[in-house]
Amino acid sequence: MKTKRLLLVAILAATILLAAIILTACDEEKPEPHNHTFSVFWSWNDSEHWHDAICGHDLRSDVALHIGDGDNCEICGYSFTQGVIYTLSNDGQSYYVSKSKNATGNVVIFSYYKGLPVTRISNNAFEYCSSLTSITIPSSVTSIGESAFFNCYNLQTVAFEEDSQLQSIGNRAFGSCESLTSITIPSGVTNMGYEVFRGCSDLTSISISSSVTSIGNSAFAGCSSLTSIIIPSSVTIIGEYAFSGCSGLQTVIFEGDSQLQSIGRWAFSSCSSLPSITIPRNVTSIGMNAFRNCSGLQSITFENPYGWRSDGIFSFGGSLLSLTDPIQNAWFFTAFDFEWTRS
Ligand SMILES: [Zn+2]
Ligand SMILES: [Zn+2]
Repeated sequence: MKTKRLLLVAILAATILLAAIILTACDEEKPEPHNHTFSVFWSWNDSEHWHDAICGHDLRSDVALHIGDGDNCEICGYSFTQGVIYTLSNDGQSYYVSKSKNATGNVVIFSYYKGLPVTRISNNAFEYCSSLTSITIPSSVTSIGESAFFNCYNLQTVAFEEDSQLQSIGNRAFGSCESLTSITIPSGVTNMGYEVFRGCSDLTSISISSSVTSIGNSAFAGCSSLTSIIIPSSVTIIGEYAFSGCSGLQTVIFEGDSQLQSIGRWAFSSCSSLPSITIPRNVTSIGMNAFRNCSGLQSITFENPYGWRSDGIFSFGGSLLSLTDPIQNAWFFTAFDFEWTRS
């Protein structure tokens, strides 16, 4: 039995060796000198087009710059707009970006198109553009529509041009952009919809501008890579489920002189890494289950412990307390001291 196996192994080894020798010999063969023929199809980069040699050699013929003043090169068809579709607004004064299925790679949206400013990105404009990896949004854009980048799951970078005029970001605009790692919201944005960054599981850094007045429902729900967040003082409302399931969130900082008045139901539920939080002075309402299942929560500090109410019990259910603890009933909690730490 043993000899038989040994023989088999020897034969196998010999076969492999022989194959290797044959391959090497083949590899060393020099190709015959030949004349070159070129593909009838065009190849291109962002500035030029050409024909490639059919044999695969790095030779090009008819190299020339793209030409034409339409959306595509008149010769090779290259898209000057990178697949972005610009549509004239009803008033004829500006263009907007409409639904594009073919935007790929690193896309720069024009600030002017055919002599007119590009002022908005419409609803669903880039939704499901799975090959889109980065987008640069010009300062001329004032609004980003609903679901504009929804499910662009390879989108890594969103850059806003300096002096951005952006004012509003629609519902779900960047929802499920699972490759997005960081974003800085431009300083003029006052309106952010619901679910704007919901499910952005790679998002580690977000800078919310101090013009934002409310954080919409589920705005950052499921952003599991987010470790810290600064809520600007301008924010008065944190919506329902706003940070629900941000399991990596360790620090929530309310900027000084916070104008925050209400924290929605389930707003910080399942923020299991959050060790402590300070509720700003002006908060009058904390929604039901706002801190439910915050298993790491050790301490909540109220700047104004007697100034708030909850719309239901168990605001902190499953977080700080056992079922027998009276503190779990948020209606009674107002009577407690301003800081409570798990013993
Ligand atoms: Zn060749
Ligand atoms: Zn061309």
